[in-house]
Amino acid sequence: MTIGKIIDGKAFAEGLRAEVARGVAGFLASQGRTPGLAVVLVGDDAASAVYVRNKGKMTVAVGMESLEFRRPSATTQEELIELVEELNGDPAVDGILVQLPLPDHIDDKAVIATIDPAKDVDGFHVVNAGRLAVGEQALVPCTPLGCLMLLKDELGDLSGLEAVVVGRSNIVGKPMAQLLLNENCTVTLAHSRTRDLASVVHRADIVVAAVGRPEMVKGEWIKPGATVIDVGINRVPAAEEGKTRLVGDVATAEAASHVRAITPVPGGVGPMTIAVLLRNTLVAACARAGIAAPQGL
Ligand code: NDP
Repeated sequence: MTIGKIIDGKAFAEGLRAEVARGVAGFLASQGRTPGLAVVLVGDDAASAVYVRNKGKMTVAVGMESLEFRRPSATTQEELIELVEELNGDPAVDGILVQLPLPDHIDDKAVIATIDPAKDVDGFHVVNAGRLAVGEQALVPCTPLGCLMLLKDELGDLSGLEAVVVGRSNIVGKPMAQLLLNENCTVTLAHSRTRDLASVVHRADIVVAAVGRPEMVKGEWIKPGATVIDVGINRVPAAEEGKTRLVGDVATAEAASHVRAITPVPGGVGPMTIAVLLRNTLVAACARAGIAAPQGL
């Protein structure tokens, strides 16, 4: 049986981080300072704390400055907005990331709207979403930009290809569809109300699944030779009692026999997200300094 290629997102992300590290060294040489990434964590969500710790380590590993701001879950929206405003005004800060989810009493949208769009390295501010939509230079959300990098590395020119994105969230599905449209794909954005999802997915040369439902996209839905990017991260019970394992939104074992290429979970899209965050921070720092970002980033 022929098996499609398993895309090694971990290796690609390592390469991207190495490129960012070279760019940071160049930035230091020309500007006399390192780019700075500020991460704000409110509350004590365990998964967020692990994610923030990893971001901090990787930020330092590429030679950037990592600034962490931990605040208790009782922090008010006004206090958080005040902190973001301080970071907006701090010349040592090039990127601001407010870790989501925020506690229920804080309106995510109000906080994100306060971030200076030039420092919005998550690309969630409406100004950046709007720039992406009209095809202007923007800071683009990290996960979909990482998916696009993997697709271009695998397929080269995407022009004219039929792409189906399943999931329409503001942080993954919608920006993913915009990015693919900007690459001249013919894009379908599917969601929970889509009729006959199986036949919609079957049209695609490129399938991006960002749903959050374990192995929902079946192997038989996928056209032979298609390239599949599985964004989903779902924890399910493992064979061993009491243990869990991670699976994506695609039934990878069923699909692998006839796809051209597919990302695994874990080790596919996941590692790309932080690497692109570091890339976005360097790009933001270069733009703020009025210099060109290193080529190829
Ligand atoms: P959301 O919950 O915000 O969005 C899920 C989307 O899936 C919605 O648009 C929803 O449609 C759609 N959907 C739900 N059920 C179905 C269905 N039965 N058929 C078709 N579409 C459906 O999730 P996110 O976009 O934030 O995340 C998606 C997945 O990606 C999650 O597993 C998440 O953990 C993972 N993720 C991974 C990242 C990484 O770094 N690798 C980063 C971010 C997310 P509707 O709008 O109609 O409700």
